[in-house]
Amino acid sequence: MFNALYLEQTADRQTQASLKALDDAALPAFDARGVTVDIAYSTLNYKDGLAITGRSPVVRKWPMVPGIDFAGTVAASDDPRWQPGDPVVLNGWGVGESHWGGLAQRARVSGDWLVRRPEALNAFEAMAIGTAGYTAMLCVLALEKHGVAPAQGEILVTGASGGVGSFAVSLLAGLGFRVVASTGKAAEADYLRALGAAEVIDRATLAAPGKPLQKERWAGVVDSVGSHTLANACAATRYGGAAAACGLAQGMDLPMTVAPFILRGVALLGVDSVMAPLPLRLEAWSRLAAGADRGAIAAIARRIGLAQALEAAPRLLAGEVRGRLVVDVNA
Ligand code: NDP
Repeated sequence: MFNALYLEQTADRQTQASLKALDDAALPAFDARGVTVDIAYSTLNYKDGLAITGRSPVVRKWPMVPGIDFAGTVAASDDPRWQPGDPVVLNGWGVGESHWGGLAQRARVSGDWLVRRPEALNAFEAMAIGTAGYTAMLCVLALEKHGVAPAQGEILVTGASGGVGSFAVSLLAGLGFRVVASTGKAAEADYLRALGAAEVIDRATLAAPGKPLQKERWAGVVDSVGSHTLANACAATRYGGAAAACGLAQGMDLPMTVAPFILRGVALLGVDSVMAPLPLRLEAWSRLAAGADRGAIAAIARRIGLAQALEAAPRLLAGEVRGRLVVDVNA
């Protein structure tokens, strides 16, 4: 038996979330390459908040165990690439959406989806980084591949006190960029400065409709907010700069003109962590293992138990959670 958060859909299509003890036999079967993992830590991501509360239709099969990421140890494997005892992490691939996920003591997943946990990171640190830190690193890699470098000017990070934002601030500051953090939480300015932000701005300055082209300021942008915020960020991106877009905390819309693209050569770089190919994942995790700041990890992450994830989910969606909630599935 193992403990898991368990999501069921009622007859009137409401999501019912509870903590349940499940039988190992209930774990989904894989014809080949199936790997059973004893999970140590999972996390509460924005998408997990949506799944647990039923706020958005991210769950594609019922019943579902939520949790889009986890770190653990291989318990049994039909995949010759993985042996019992191997330390692994998993991000995305529809886990927690269409396959049972990480907010549980056990999971059975495809061996194709696993990444070996880098030796430099323990399981807690790997999940403190989790999908948020890994996505922040994918954004950093996208900006670097576009040629954005510290000498070209400032980087704007939106949703800065959230999981993706906190890691983006820390990683970019560590690489020598001057980072400007946009937040709705004035009280978290010291937290953001401690992570490496050179300046903290009120997200209200970016949240409303703005001019199609604004004074050029940003060499690059990491945006986890979307909507008017991303539109304004692009409108103020410098000639030849780029914005990496990975989230929709303000909205899924993008109300803007093509002016920044066709008059300033600005690039909008889409970042997806869920289906990212393995070589890109390995590059991101290897850069995270080498470059993630232990002090920042300690400042960003807070440990909670499996049952606490249920009450934390609506607070996360309300934007009330700072940094990352790491779920100790055995607590
Ligand atoms: P968090 O909830 O930890 O952070 C989101 C942050 O966005 C909040 O802390 C808040 O920061 C800001 N925010 C919240 N509501 C609003 C609003 N109405 N307007 C403007 N800003 C707002 O989530 P994550 O960091 O885990 O994820 C951020 C986004 O990125 C989500 O949309 C998520 O779905 C997406 N994502 C996408 C991935 C991908 O593969 N593309 C992977 C991971 C996440 P503050 O108070 O500082 O402004």
